[in-house]
Amino acid sequence: MADLMGTKDYENGLNFLEELTENGHRIQEQVLEEILLRNAGTEYLTRFLHGQTDKQLFKNNVPIVTYEDIKPYIDRIANGETSNILLADPISEFIQSSGTSGGQPKLIPMTAENFEKKTLELTLVDPVVKKYFDGLEKGKTMSLFFVKKGSETPSGLTVRTLTSCYFMSDSFKKSAPKICTSPIETILCLDHKQSMYCQLLTGLLQRDHVVSISSIFGSVLARSIKFLEDHWNELCSNIRTGCLSDWITDPGCRNAVSSILTRPNPELADTIEQICGNESWEGIIKKLWPKAKYINSVITGTMSQYISLLDFYGGGIPLVSPSYGSSESTFGINLNPLSNPYDVSYTFLPNMAYFEFLPVDKDGEEKARESNLDGVSSQWSSEMTNANGNVEPVDSANVKLGQYYEVVVTTFAGLYRYRVGDVLKLTGFHNNSPQFQFVERRNTVLSIDMDKTSEEDLLKAIGNAKRHLEPLGFVLMTFSSYAETSSIPGRYVLFWELKFKERNRWLKLDAKIMEECCSIVEESLDFTYKSLREANKIAALEVRVVKHGTFDALMDFYVSKGASINQYKTPSCIKSEEAVKVLNSGVLEKFFSPNTFFLS
Ligand code: AMP
Repeated sequence: MADLMGTKDYENGLNFLEELTENGHRIQEQVLEEILLRNAGTEYLTRFLHGQTDKQLFKNNVPIVTYEDIKPYIDRIANGETSNILLADPISEFIQSSGTSGGQPKLIPMTAENFEKKTLELTLVDPVVKKYFDGLEKGKTMSLFFVKKGSETPSGLTVRTLTSCYFMSDSFKKSAPKICTSPIETILCLDHKQSMYCQLLTGLLQRDHVVSISSIFGSVLARSIKFLEDHWNELCSNIRTGCLSDWITDPGCRNAVSSILTRPNPELADTIEQICGNESWEGIIKKLWPKAKYINSVITGTMSQYISLLDFYGGGIPLVSPSYGSSESTFGINLNPLSNPYDVSYTFLPNMAYFEFLPVDKDGEEKARESNLDGVSSQWSSEMTNANGNVEPVDSANVKLGQYYEVVVTTFAGLYRYRVGDVLKLTGFHNNSPQFQFVERRNTVLSIDMDKTSEEDLLKAIGNAKRHLEPLGFVLMTFSSYAETSSIPGRYVLFWELKFKERNRWLKLDAKIMEECCSIVEESLDFTYKSLREANKIAALEVRVVKHGTFDALMDFYVSKGASINQYKTPSCIKSEEAVKVLNSGVLEKFFSPNTFFLS
């Protein structure tokens, strides 16, 4: 978010960050003490602590849980019981996370204080970014932000996504006109098509003031540029005539846009038309918003599939992945905005929650919980295990460089030793705060027979294959996958949406090259996969190329099921048959790996 702060706040912000990270361990201890002091008397914690607030007792007695374990408490509160069965402070609302539990959205309790902490994280990102880019205070962010309609629990508590909660807050409404080209009414419009159109239009009208481009996740920006490809003629016509298209019927949008689209502007329309009419859209963002200094979007984890596309559209504008957080908690921010998008690490903020880290075995795919259940796991060093041989989480003072962890969080808002489900790798420290690379969502795996292919391995394998395509003028826009097990042996199927670098042209895909891509993916996968291929327990990998817009249809499908556009993450691996159907309906061509050496 550009410029929420003046110079003094900027310096204060950087100093505050240094102070936080220098005193990370002490602050973490204080955070846990405070959480226990407030909440030890809740029904949930009393079961394990019997009213005591001792930190060691907490670590010995309180179990590490997943959402399913606390769901009965959430359901009771949603149905009208007092929230102090779980936390002492009153719940202000429930946050709907992008995860689901038994088909239902996960509801995470939120308190007024916790919400302020989350807002603080956003204000801390600003001074860091300003250190690297001059003149941000002189302009605005061309933002692509959206809200999702909320709902209510039977007890009358509001349920909203975190981003909706933030964009609807008074503090955002107050600062938005200073920082965003999008009028607040366009952000709050519930019709996403009208909202996107108006945000692009107002962004184009104010193109000379735009110093950064921002969406929460990279996928939304990629989708918005595609939307621009389909609508630039109409947008230019609106700019030329000074009249907004009739299909924009939302009164808030019409009203807000009319204060920016005040007159016919044929010169601007000509300029944009000339840029958008170009055969290639390489560098389109830089051309349309020439003063933009950076693109601000999360592009790590599953979003890394959009890096090459956003690089292509950005024309060299740095991609900055600002922070890492979830509905449950904020975790960290990126203190090196100019780092390579593939190497971003997030520095944990010790005041946000109490963090523990469960060592996970990346190579063996054996996760900590499985080790716990199995009792003993030989590959763990004794310092990670307790007397029973079970893997123990460590606190931030005891994490080890290069080790993979699953993050476990204890918040001020009713989550105690809660597994977030994200796997992280420790890459370093800033002062005393650990820095982690996001690796993958736990359980995001393709699986057939004994093989489990993780999201991280899949992303790497596809990364290798797409380098093979790029010299031919194709960019892999986005992908997903599923394990096709209706035939025996089953196979992994990848769905690819490709784009030819020159617009309006499509060279026929060379079958040989595509088959080579399938081979490269297979060869990049691990030993287990290759052994099972060799034993013919997994069939040849298949790539299905889908037509332009198929992944938009997938996003629409998930949005229709309750996902929020802002927080939507293209699933790298699909389990839902309905979702597979959506992708299958866009298939243009299919290619199979010709690898036979596995079978020799
Ligand atoms: P939600 O609670 O719906 O906002 O989703 C939160 C999840 O999004 C996290 O647990 C991560 O899996 C993912 N996520 C959030 N921020 C990042 C990031 N910077 N890099 C990678 N994944 C992220």
